[in-house]
Amino acid sequence: WHADQTGETLVPTHCCFCGVQCGMYLRVNQAGKVFGVEPRNHDINRMRLCPKGINAYQQVNHPDRLTAPLIRRYRDKPFQECTWDEALDFTVAEIRRIQEVYGADAFGMLGGASLSTEKTYLVGKFARVALRTRHIDYNGRLCMVSAAGANKLAFGIDRAGNPFSDILLSDCVLIAGSNVGECFPVMTQYIWGARDRGAKLIVVDPRETPVARTADLHVPLKPGTDSAFFNAVLHVIVRDGLTDEKYLADHTTGWDAVKAAVENYPPDRAAGICGVGVEQIEQVAHWFAGAERAMAWHARGVEHHSQGVENCLSIINLCVATGNIGRPGAGYGTLTGQGNGQGGREHGQKSDLLPGGRSITDPEHRREICHIWGIPEDELPLAGTSMMEMVHQMRRREIRGLIATCNNPFVSLPNHHVVKEGYDTLEFHVQLDFFLSETAANAHVVLPVTVWAEDEGVMANAEARVVKHNKAQDPPPGVRTDTWILCELARRLGTGDKFAFSTSRDVFEELRIASAGTVNDYYGITYERLEETGGIAWPCPTTEHPGTPRLFEDGRTYHPDGKIHLQAVAWHPPIDPYDETYPLSLTTGRTVAHYLSGNQTRRLGALVEQTPRPWVEVHPSHGFSNGQPVRVVTRRGSAVYPALVLESIRPDTVFVPYHWPSPTAANILTIDALDPRSKIPEYKVCAARIEAATTL
Ligand code: SF4
Repeated sequence: WHADQTGETLVPTHCCFCGVQCGMYLRVNQAGKVFGVEPRNHDINRMRLCPKGINAYQQVNHPDRLTAPLIRRYRDKPFQECTWDEALDFTVAEIRRIQEVYGADAFGMLGGASLSTEKTYLVGKFARVALRTRHIDYNGRLCMVSAAGANKLAFGIDRAGNPFSDILLSDCVLIAGSNVGECFPVMTQYIWGARDRGAKLIVVDPRETPVARTADLHVPLKPGTDSAFFNAVLHVIVRDGLTDEKYLADHTTGWDAVKAAVENYPPDRAAGICGVGVEQIEQVAHWFAGAERAMAWHARGVEHHSQGVENCLSIINLCVATGNIGRPGAGYGTLTGQGNGQGGREHGQKSDLLPGGRSITDPEHRREICHIWGIPEDELPLAGTSMMEMVHQMRRREIRGLIATCNNPFVSLPNHHVVKEGYDTLEFHVQLDFFLSETAANAHVVLPVTVWAEDEGVMANAEARVVKHNKAQDPPPGVRTDTWILCELARRLGTGDKFAFSTSRDVFEELRIASAGTVNDYYGITYERLEETGGIAWPCPTTEHPGTPRLFEDGRTYHPDGKIHLQAVAWHPPIDPYDETYPLSLTTGRTVAHYLSGNQTRRLGALVEQTPRPWVEVHPSHGFSNGQPVRVVTRRGSAVYPALVLESIRPDTVFVPYHWPSPTAANILTIDALDPRSKIPEYKVCAARIEAATTL
């Protein structure tokens, strides 16, 4: 990149935070250091950035950066700085010791979906080839996996069906369980652009979020009742003859079962389950089915449930039954929470998947990957377990050692006391991070890694558009990339030339080949093409292919029969039962100033000033005043927060944001019940009570 007359260089890249992946320039001074940000007129965000994006650069040269490996042999001793050789030799010795004594699967690995796609590919390969363990999973398990499961079941492909720009063409936009204005702020330009054109905007969310306040209709349903609500909406559509029968006949299987299932959800019954008005259900049905082009986008509010996959399927059913698939302005998508929420789940760091979205249980898929990786088929481990299940395996000493990068489970996993117990039981834990997170502070070894501005690589945003992040500065001395660390560990573990990667580009070239011919085909995407175009949506099978911004335009899905496989959905109550002691619903979520576990944003001045601590939102009927200390109690623990008294929150619901650690961690309170298919935790609903506390 070229310096201007002041010596300053503008490096084009993308925000490291959410799945919108706004384009930005990082400002680099004559000394080669990142010192600021400028908006970039990228197609995704058109010069806009949100508070997180504007402040992201402050991480890069932050005084809290880890700049040397840290080591301690016992958790009750303080960390000592050490050389890389000492840290890596100790790590390799512990991996060998644990695996020789207890077997390969006794050592686990956890990755993250804020890593570049190259690094997520490497995490999966390192676990299977260097560690030879089945226990590999990642923090997207806490984020997008319910949508992923539903997408695969219905369409045979796991991504949004439409680009963001299609929202502008829609006549009815339904946002379900997504606080878009705070979690994906720049997305609002599309939603409000559609509304300003005259589209109906419907928001289905227990809370009156900023976007809900601007909607034509806000439906504040009771947490944990999503599929009952969407089944009832489809019931009305069927009852009133508003389905697209030709589309259903030509393009789907399973419609009769879906139709029979929604019979059981007449609006008066669903209104009772969901705590909303019959007229709201009828209105949503008529606006959505009556629109020429309708779209539904959802996020964690729908997905973080023990019935998360069903919730997503109930929304897919609504879109398909009304023929709103595969057309400009008509479709379906999930808003990925993490920067690389989409790319992070495509290429092998998920316990059940191999690169290219291949199934680890499919013999042909296993054969293909073994060929690419150059390993015998019987050396490729079997499917592992999910992140929360791995914690329980730690508690049972089935997993005794762990290497982890890009996650902070001490804040982000549910039922914190159980999580802490699991990690405390580990005989050896090495964590890679650039700040000393709450989880890293509990490890035996901490390896300092680069931030996003210190390496290049690709990410896929919520549209499945692959974008390229560029390197803006060299890392501090003593800091290494995840790529270098994993390759160096692999070499010391005796993998020969299987990890001969020097750069992200080297990894990307292998990833392209590993994905070729799969549904998640990246073969036609090159770094050069990404730099020229600003992003390409996969599948992209050849270097001449333009990419696939909108799916299903030819009426075919990615199932072998080309049909949409509709799935009937039955609602069940949340796992944590309400009773006289715990009569309220606790729901959790994010706030505009912070990202995920807050390990990054809780250090950035302006964001901390904007939102220094968590709170609990309560309805005035509970008799608390603003700022009054309120204790939230669940079957797993309690925490005290200042009250934010809101007329708009349901009297039977309280809300706590989750970005902070113990003792105010929302995840002290949440339940670790999992969706049986996606294994996502039920963060969005558990039974609770509130009571006055004396101090914060
Ligand atoms: Fe970054 Fe998302 Fe904000 Fe865009 S909307 S600046 S990608 S956090």
